[in-house]
Amino acid sequence: MFIISFQRKKCIGCNYCIESSPLHFKMSKTDGKSFLLNSIKKKNFYILKTNNYFTYLKCKIASTICPVNIIKLFYINCFIKN
Ligand code: SF4
Repeated sequence: MFIISFQRKKCIGCNYCIESSPLHFKMSKTDGKSFLLNSIKKKNFYILKTNNYFTYLKCKIASTICPVNIIKLFYINCFIKN
């Protein structure tokens, strides 16, 4: 499972993530900061859990170009033992 975390509070609204991944990020018209779509807020972070590799790749690209480095990606290998 891929986990994408986004520290929205530190976003400077440069729009790079939206240009690289418009299906996963959207700009807020009210505060000029980006949203990670379908994420859930947990304290100061927005978290998106997914098994979709395309989502992972697009968010990975966004994380590499984000100038304030607030998009982080993690991979958790989940399986059930019988
Ligand atoms: S690239 Fe980073 S700083 Fe720029 S809008 Fe996206 S999250 Fe915010």
